[in-house]
Amino acid sequence: MEAEYDVGIIGAGPAGSAAAAYLAKAGLSVAMFERANFPREHVGESLVPATTPVLLEIGCMNAVEAAGFPKKYGAAWTSAEDREIDHLGFRNLTNGFRTAEIRFDERDQPGVDRAYTYHVDRGLFDQILLKNAEASGAQVFQGVPVGQVDFSGEIPRIEARLGGRSVDIPVAMVVDASGRRTQLGTQLGVKRPDPVFNQYAVHSWFEDFDRKAFATDPERMDYIYIHFLPVVDTWVWQIPITETITSIGVVSQRRRLRDFAGDTERFFWETLASRPELFDVLKNARQLRPLKTEGDYSYAMSQITGDNYVLIGDAARFVDPIFSSGVSVALNSARIACQDIVAAAAAGDFTRHRFQGYETKLRRGVRNWYEFISMYYRLNILFTAFVQDDRYRLDVLKMLQGDVYDEEEPKALGAMREIVRAVENDPSHLWHPFLGSLRAPSAMPAF
Ligand SMILES: Cc1cc2nc3c(=O)[nH]c(=O)nc-3n(C[C@H](O)[C@H](O)[C@H](O)COP(=O)(O)OP(=O)(O)OC[C@H]3O[C@@H](n4cnc5c(N)ncnc54)[C@H](O)[C@@H]3O)c2cc1C
Repeated sequence: MEAEYDVGIIGAGPAGSAAAAYLAKAGLSVAMFERANFPREHVGESLVPATTPVLLEIGCMNAVEAAGFPKKYGAAWTSAEDREIDHLGFRNLTNGFRTAEIRFDERDQPGVDRAYTYHVDRGLFDQILLKNAEASGAQVFQGVPVGQVDFSGEIPRIEARLGGRSVDIPVAMVVDASGRRTQLGTQLGVKRPDPVFNQYAVHSWFEDFDRKAFATDPERMDYIYIHFLPVVDTWVWQIPITETITSIGVVSQRRRLRDFAGDTERFFWETLASRPELFDVLKNARQLRPLKTEGDYSYAMSQITGDNYVLIGDAARFVDPIFSSGVSVALNSARIACQDIVAAAAAGDFTRHRFQGYETKLRRGVRNWYEFISMYYRLNILFTAFVQDDRYRLDVLKMLQGDVYDEEEPKALGAMREIVRAVENDPSHLWHPFLGSLRAPSAMPAF
């Protein structure tokens, strides 16, 4: 059977649209199917600088810059005053809380030509990437959900639902970029829920949230702020969306919500009230949208490549969003996978071994993220201590920039692991009371 397209892509989020652009620019015929009609809302609004090389390569950086998204020069973490940890890396501020900060331009990053990245309205950002895929030569079908992919024949057939009809589209290769719906991973039975991380997020946009309230200087007002709460394994994001709109989200363990007597609305506000100074600032802002929830979002896949297919972005893996890694993983997984796909097309061979380079590189990068995130949840004050420690600051910054694909393991991770072990084994250790409740299963094959 003749393929109608070289590559069929499921989903037009950042992963799908970046892949479509890379492949079309390389001369392959590409069809991308998206169930929604864009623009559509999406969580995941704060980027890291590792997105920059991809946005430059696929040719949409000028459009992203022109959209006027808030520029993100750095990140800050704040902690409530009543914790006696000022010697651990937080700077003591007069206004009642402590903060630790990084600027991205403290470290040169290969392929990154500017001191900032962006916070984005994902409706607009994803639409820019989709238009760029189209302009690069990909054929984009919006409002067209994909059902099953039939792998029983010589080449795969994608079942696309067009105007109430099911149409089978033969392609040489399938790229699953369907996000947390994990279309192909679910169909193939390779999805593995994370046995430890089971977070839940509640979020919305707020008008006139006073971003100066937490900035140590007005220039840092548009950093991402991660506010630690005095509630175990729980934190809040503060992300600028426009000059006046700020995205606020509470992330906690799902079991906390299960044990909570009350609805999502009360859960959001009561959790925030554990940091009264944050609660007060938010109460003075105007909520623009109903609260939205995201749950069950951490998982891995036992297999992310196979004969005639690869999984990219969230369709391949999702780890906790604490370090804003998702869009960066989506774009970089597209970049790395497309190198293998283009080579496979040139060889006329789409069997699994062609995608081994991608599988190895993606697993290494995401494993570094996962270890880093696990360490953060286990002992988050260790993270701020390392950020402020000259021996580790640049190494930690490298991870926070999203620069994780080329190194077996950043040295800060090994050092963190040793300290965590020492603290766990010594109940009299000064940091022992700060241990979180989560232990990551990093030895499991899929993780
Ligand atoms: C609470 C939370 C906070 C987050 N915060 C951040 C953050 O600050 N920064 C960050 O970088 N990341 C963040 N993320 C992660 C980020 O949202 C994702 O990693 C990113 O959107 C992944 O991009 P993607 O292209 O893989 O998938 P998506 O952006 O989800 O795109 C997938 C697309 O596929 C479409 N689709 C799905 N199924 C089908 C189908 N069957 N047929 C056709 N189309 C289909 C969907 O409609 C969607 O448009 C966060 C995630 C969560 C849960």
